[in-house]
Amino acid sequence: MTIGIKAPGYYVQGNGELDKLGKYVKKMGNSFLVLLSPNNKRRIGERIDKALNSANKSVFYAEFQGECSKKAIADAQDIAYQHGCDAIIGVGGGKALDTAKAVATNLGDLPTIIIPTIASNDAPCSSVAVIYNEQGVVIKALMMKHNPDLVLVDTGIIAQAPKKYLVSGMGDALSTYFEARACQRSGAKTMARGACSATALALAALCYKTLLNDSLEALNAVEKQEVNSALERVIEACVYLSGVGFESGGLAAAHAINDGFAHVPQAHGASHGEKVAFGLLAQLILEKAPKDEWDTVLHYIKSVGLPSCLADLGIKDVKEEEIRLVAEAATVPTQFTKNVRADITADEVYDAIMKADALGK
Ligand SMILES: [Zn+2]
Repeated sequence: MTIGIKAPGYYVQGNGELDKLGKYVKKMGNSFLVLLSPNNKRRIGERIDKALNSANKSVFYAEFQGECSKKAIADAQDIAYQHGCDAIIGVGGGKALDTAKAVATNLGDLPTIIIPTIASNDAPCSSVAVIYNEQGVVIKALMMKHNPDLVLVDTGIIAQAPKKYLVSGMGDALSTYFEARACQRSGAKTMARGACSATALALAALCYKTLLNDSLEALNAVEKQEVNSALERVIEACVYLSGVGFESGGLAAAHAINDGFAHVPQAHGASHGEKVAFGLLAQLILEKAPKDEWDTVLHYIKSVGLPSCLADLGIKDVKEEEIRLVAEAATVPTQFTKNVRADITADEVYDAIMKADALGK
């Protein structure tokens, strides 16, 4: 059996780490393109400037407009090219980070530095960039040649972001273990081009255990905009364990159902992590998970404020034809539902979604 494990070159996490950025990128080049939104530039632009300038690095900025589109990638790429930048720094949530990964790849695999300002999903550590069109619809997932060279997580910055982002990150991280376990059981191939390794499954299991133990205390810290050790462990779970866990452990029905919700306009306000968390409930139904496992996951989802039914996702008016579209999209041959079982049908997924909704209410 072939296994593959993909992870960032270096992961550093701590309160105030952003101010040491110059030290960490010392050997990555002399001029850096920093891709970030106007809001993040106001929040932390000065600190980035100071950290890089004190290490005698030149800094150029590209404004991130909110979508990881072909145009956003091309625009940032032009700026980096004009200034002869040696490395790309992506700052923000998943989409800004993915844009930075694509820019670095297109410019001949420049060193990539990822600085998440929220822990709302598991994009930072992965080699995947999800590309959207200008209307915000997913076009494709691009695989980079390698994972980011440096992922720098300043826990003080994450603690000051609105709580809803961390809750979303918890939703994305919650499914990691169950999706990796499905892949391990079925022998599915992961994005790291091998079967789910024992390493990835162990990381995913630790991710789940950490969430169960520490999430409530971590959310308390975020409410006070403070860093405590529970928050540090949860951030590590949401960013590192879930990131390496999903890429090297594999995805399954929870993510496929999340993708399917793109067909339901009422769900467009729900975040990735929220849709994945509900998708996990449906996956557990498909897997006929034991009752105590179902109870634990459902209790967790309710305790942190993730959606446990369709109404929580914004789908107040449940239309059968729309939910059938979700189920069909989740079972096309390219989707990850097959990693639970190769012959799962759209009807089974539809029934699982409706049962999860009824039990989750
Ligand atoms: Zn995800």
